[in-house]
Amino acid sequence: MFSITLESCEVKENTEAAMNLVEEINDLVGELGTGSYVSLDEAEQRILEGTHSIRRKLLEMSVNQEASGKEAEPVACPKCDTPSRRWRRRGRQITTRCGIIRVHRWVYCCALGHSHKPWDMRQRLKGKYTHRVAEAMCRLSAHLPFREAAEELSRQGIKVSHTTLHKKVREWSKDLKALAAVAPQTLEKNQRWYVSCDGCHTNSPEGWKETKVSCIYRDYPQLGPNSVASVRTESIRYTANRQDAQHCGKDLYALATNSGIYQEAIDTQEIVFIGDGAAWIWNLAAEYFPNAVEIVDYMHAKSHLYDVAKCAFGETETETIAAWIQEVAPILLDGNIPEVVARIRTLEPQNPEDRDTLEREARYFQKHAKRMRYKAFREKGYQIGSGVIESACHHVVGKRCKHASMRWTEPGLNAILEWRCLLKNKTWNRYWYPETKTA
Ligand SMILES: [Zn+2]
Repeated sequence: MFSITLESCEVKENTEAAMNLVEEINDLVGELGTGSYVSLDEAEQRILEGTHSIRRKLLEMSVNQEASGKEAEPVACPKCDTPSRRWRRRGRQITTRCGIIRVHRWVYCCALGHSHKPWDMRQRLKGKYTHRVAEAMCRLSAHLPFREAAEELSRQGIKVSHTTLHKKVREWSKDLKALAAVAPQTLEKNQRWYVSCDGCHTNSPEGWKETKVSCIYRDYPQLGPNSVASVRTESIRYTANRQDAQHCGKDLYALATNSGIYQEAIDTQEIVFIGDGAAWIWNLAAEYFPNAVEIVDYMHAKSHLYDVAKCAFGETETETIAAWIQEVAPILLDGNIPEVVARIRTLEPQNPEDRDTLEREARYFQKHAKRMRYKAFREKGYQIGSGVIESACHHVVGKRCKHASMRWTEPGLNAILEWRCLLKNKTWNRYWYPETKTA
């Protein structure tokens, strides 16, 4: 086939490494080009393994050549700003995407004895990992359980134990401001903002705990033939963590304003807040989005009708329950809440003790009547379902964090959720590679 020879090598220290490299390439080429039969499978594997070692050596050579050079004088001490001088060369190991390399670079020292390593400071290293390795560690951990992520990394030639992965991903999440990474957007004509919250459960060493998920998105209402609007949802952004409602509110507000809400005059923006019946959600809506149109998710309201019917007729009376729902659900969808309440109050429960339950349900509808004007909402083209946030509970949190054996501590869970929101908000590259145009 062909062979490579070494003409010259300018850096003396690299000469030996370069000769090794040439030898290795020639060995690989020689081995594959002997004329004896090598299957595609074998050749593929041999080239992959062989070039991995070559890539590592090339990187090591190139980095050492750069690191052996002199810094532009004067080199100021980062601690006291006085001039520092080249002191000695020291080696360190770095885990790169080409494998583990050893780099010898200069240590500088000032008159006060502070030492520092200018080469290291230029490299965006995360501990002993390169920026790209750290990014891969975080990305895979955001998608996969730590053990699987560690296996996948190992296949890519990056050896990290799952416990290290867990520790590092959590440590690096502290620098991450996922909410600040979102790009602002402006509303186009006929667009409106939606804000929505919900809770879902994740397991902890002490049992199941609520994780709060919020999202904001935009839509274009499109009026259909029956003057009922269908909508196209777009640019959904998420925030999720296991924290109290107060933190959740602050995060949601930051996500909303970073995304563009309230960046123009308030009265030009239409905000729709959708939630279920939970009190914390409506407190949060009142505090942070006081001008929003509030809507109780229609399916959630309808599920209360089922509770009413079961209580009134008995759980086993499925036909009577279905008949009653068929009668009352259209009234609910019409937003005629006084009529819904009246219907509930005419019911006689099987069990006299259930009278309180029925009255509580009647009050639930009364309390949220303003948030259940479904006919008016539909005519305006508002979404009346919380499908977007419910699906977020599954694909932002559940898919990664609700496997059978998982028990999450609060910091561990919040770290992973932060990375996942960065992914889901399509801000991953913007955060990791802000210098690239596609970010
Ligand atoms: Zn100093």
